[in-house]
This record gives sequence, C-alpha cells and structure tokens, in this order.
Amino acid sequence: MRDDRHDDDRDEPDIGTSAPTDQALVLNRHWTPVSTTPVRRALVLLCRSTASAICPASYEVYDLDAWIARSLDTGPALERERVLRTPRFAIEKPEVILLLGYAGVPRREVSFSRRNLYRRDGYACQYCGRRRPLDELSIDHVMPRSRGGKTTWENCVLACVRCNTKKANKTLRESGFQLLRAPGKPTWSPLLESIPRAHPPSWRKFLDRSEHLAG
Ligand SMILES: [Zn+2]
Repeated sequence: MRDDRHDDDRDEPDIGTSAPTDQALVLNRHWTPVSTTPVRRALVLLCRSTASAICPASYEVYDLDAWIARSLDTGPALERERVLRTPRFAIEKPEVILLLGYAGVPRREVSFSRRNLYRRDGYACQYCGRRRPLDELSIDHVMPRSRGGKTTWENCVLACVRCNTKKANKTLRESGFQLLRAPGKPTWSPLLESIPRAHPPSWRKFLDRSEHLAG
C-alpha cells in the first residue's frame, strides 16, 4: 500500500529541530557546563569567534576554520545526522562548545517539582532508607497538610508506601518516625534539569564534573 502522508512542515529539513542530537552543550571558559543550545546557534557562536568547538574525546579546542578543516576528515565517516550540510561544505555538528569570554555560572533556583524531589532523595524512602520503584514511593508532608504543613522543599520527603501508611496524618513526634536527614532545597546546578534525557554520551564527563562543582 502506498503511504500518502505528506511532509508539509519541512522548510528546514536538516537543522533547527530540538532533537537531542541537535543540541550542543555549552561550557564557560573554565570548562563548567552552563547551558545547552541548538547546534545551529552553536555554529553562529563559532562564526562570531565567541565560542570554540571541543572534541570531547581529545579535549582539543577548534576555532571555526579548524573545525571546518577537521570536518573534511571526520565528516565522511560520520552518521548522516551528525553532519550539517551547507551549499559549500559539510560540517560536523559540534556536541560541546566552549565560550571564550564568559566565566560565570547562571544562578537560578532549582524548581520544586516531583521529579526534582525524587532526585534529591535518591529514590529512597527518607524514613526507612529503602530504595523503591517510582510507583512505590510517594511524597510525604513531614508536618501533615491537615496540620498546616506546607508543600516546600523543607516539608516534603519521599516515603515508601509502608512508612507513609504508618505515619499517616501524624507529626514526627506522634509517629515516632525519624528522618534520615533534614530535607532542604537541593544544591545541584539547575542546568542539569534542562539536560535532555537522551543526550550525547560525550556530555557525560563534562556534566559529572559540574555535578561535583555544584555539590
Ligand atoms: Zn519507608
């Protein structure tokens, strides 16, 4: 049977999508990850000499001309989606770029969300310490909501079904439960929240480094 679907939205078939492979990790000039950006924008920064491209394997730094020259060598061996074709040449999509002037780290708050709470508590019940699958963990208000407890970093923890059921609507004192550690706002870099789950493996070593710095 023929497939009669039309691809109407294909003005920019090769670039500008938000697929993970089309994002570059952006490092400040101290090599600390600060953001991600579409590959197209990463190349604009290279053209302006605002940034250089990094080879994640060798840590070598390339300006635009050097990156184009390198692409002549690497390009033919790369998968199609890793190369950006222009009328004049094919250029390897940089996975990591280095800002040449910017040394800062954007200060943003880690947003309060279920996902971040799971992450803060390491997917473990904060009363018994057991690590459970997601569907066996719930969010417990340390001071119950019915007693005026707020939904905040300081008053919410992960609890397994068993502990949550036992603690129910009681305070810590009434239930005799103890928290493994005092809950608070996470200290990791909010950048890590914006990293797509399916990111290039080459980002990992830069992000690991940043997690240490952020902690
Ligand atoms: Zn528990």
